[in-house]
Amino acid sequence: MVSDFLVFLDAGHGGIDSEGNYVTAPSKQFRHSGVTLHGDGWFYEGVWNRTITNKVAEKLGHLSIPFYLVYDQVADVKLDYRVGLANYYAKKVKKSLYVSNHANAGGGQARGFEIYTSPGKTRSDTVAELHWDNVKELVGNRISRYRSDGSDGDHDKEARFYVLTRTSMPAILVEHLFFDNLADAKLLMDEDIIERFAEAQVRTIVEAMDVL
Ligand SMILES: [Zn+2]
Repeated sequence: MVSDFLVFLDAGHGGIDSEGNYVTAPSKQFRHSGVTLHGDGWFYEGVWNRTITNKVAEKLGHLSIPFYLVYDQVADVKLDYRVGLANYYAKKVKKSLYVSNHANAGGGQARGFEIYTSPGKTRSDTVAELHWDNVKELVGNRISRYRSDGSDGDHDKEARFYVLTRTSMPAILVEHLFFDNLADAKLLMDEDIIERFAEAQVRTIVEAMDVL
């Protein structure tokens, strides 16, 4: 392979198949009333994850930055397979990064934006800080809240998510707002917000190429 850097893009869960079935866990959807969203009030997290991740991929393509999609546009590919793809190709390049895109659910009241990394101080924290700053700059106060645990002096939250602990390269998982909160769900459907989240992610990837 010719590239020195490769970014693995992951869109969480599954999408909608050719027969209109949402092929992922029922907890990854929510139906609001009085709005359309993805159709008839439904918000499908896996569909949204693909919308933003495909947009990031398109932008990276325009910049000739090498990326690899570890998700399928429909199937809810198993996490060990997604991580296995990344870990295989990471060995073929000098530097790589894994970015997993999600939207959150928290019972309806919770709102806001979060970035997760694996526990402890790692290079993933460096990337998370870059991304925090880029989202703050581009999305700013268009969203209600930036959620940080503040436990170790940086802004990321830490969790033992499979894609964070089993990846061999720096990895972040981004929870973009809470889809089971109506105000956040409406923001997630806003084209300008989607564009800004995607552009922030591209800038984080570009900056990570230099600092990793
Ligand atoms: Zn998710």
